[in-house]
Amino acid sequence: MLTLWWFWPLLAICASDSFRDRALEIMRNTPVIDGHNDLPWQLLDLFNNQLQDQRADLNTLTKTHTNIPKLKAGFVGGQFWSAYLPCDTQNKDAVKRILEQMDVVHRMCQLYPETFLCVTNSSDILLAFQSGKVASLIGVEGGHLIDSSLGVLRALYHLGMRYLTLTHNCNTPWADNWLVDKGDDKAESQGLSDFGKRVLKEMNRLGVMIDLSHVSVATMKAALQLSKAPVIFSHSSAYSLCPHRRNVPDDVLQMVKNTSSLVMVNFYSEFVSCSKDANLSRVADHLDYIKKVAGPGAVGLGGDYDGVPKLPVGLEDVSKYPDLIAELLRRKWTETEVKGVLAHNLLRVFSDVERISNDMQGMQGPEEEPISLAKLEGGCRTRYGYSQAPSIHFQRGALLASLAPLLFSLHLL
Ligand SMILES: [Zn+2]
Repeated sequence: MLTLWWFWPLLAICASDSFRDRALEIMRNTPVIDGHNDLPWQLLDLFNNQLQDQRADLNTLTKTHTNIPKLKAGFVGGQFWSAYLPCDTQNKDAVKRILEQMDVVHRMCQLYPETFLCVTNSSDILLAFQSGKVASLIGVEGGHLIDSSLGVLRALYHLGMRYLTLTHNCNTPWADNWLVDKGDDKAESQGLSDFGKRVLKEMNRLGVMIDLSHVSVATMKAALQLSKAPVIFSHSSAYSLCPHRRNVPDDVLQMVKNTSSLVMVNFYSEFVSCSKDANLSRVADHLDYIKKVAGPGAVGLGGDYDGVPKLPVGLEDVSKYPDLIAELLRRKWTETEVKGVLAHNLLRVFSDVERISNDMQGMQGPEEEPISLAKLEGGCRTRYGYSQAPSIHFQRGALLASLAPLLFSLHLL
């Protein structure tokens, strides 16, 4: 038997290769749809969105987790590109900035038409699969980027936004963020304010997926109760395996199950293992856990590539998805379950959102009641539309009339 010392290691290597071969076989027809990639932020940060700068060439870019050869090696067939700006844009130039980040995604599709196909609905994702392109969709990360305006929400929908993360790492005037649960921010809306509820209803009516990554648990629960359509967590993992407040706790996973919603697992080491060190196997543990608690239909992938500083060993960039799928097959996930985590679960949620939007649009018009003026912050706002009084500009006597009590008290009248 001593002469066979090499047999078991060799068998293990052959077996692991066969799992990877099977993963590739599945992914040729059912590639990954990833829920969250911050390449557009990198394009802003590194090149100020100048895509024709030679250094920004997506075929040769090496500074990032994402480039075109890595996307191809990773069998990425659909990507929600994150249009993100930090919270310090709130009450400043958030709306201008988000328009620019959505523009840069559209320009990526125009500059690399052989690789990217910008789409806005679930059936066109399948068309992109068939033509071997990366279906490119836009997720807007942070409710502060609509500047508390239903009109801006609708305009961003028209420009291609298909999910909105209700908050980033700050409260908006209408929704609370995860730092409330950590004790670093105060609860202001106790989940969602009345205006926040109107934002959600309008998202349901438009067909914009509600993304609950980054929100407080109270906001998660309020949204899951209110939404007529399934919701997503575009990049969050399981709280029970790593008690970070950005992850999803078990009682919320139960609500995810009951609403046929979806958790797309984040690969960031701090959310996977609550430390700087993690590996591919720990990510698979999160997928296993969410599958166990919420069902195989509730699991997806939202790697957060190019948005995080540290990734697990074995999942260093977007070329590595097949290795993760091989690990799930090794853990006895069925082919149907694997196809679910790759793409089918997201496609199911997205088409449900589209169907419910169609139904609602036949029955009701847009939400119109704006947020109250008192809720708006920021010193450089105009107030058009809010005042009931006729404009002084058009009523020459009005200024004198409004000053009359003061002038009278000063004995000037
Ligand atoms: Zn994020």
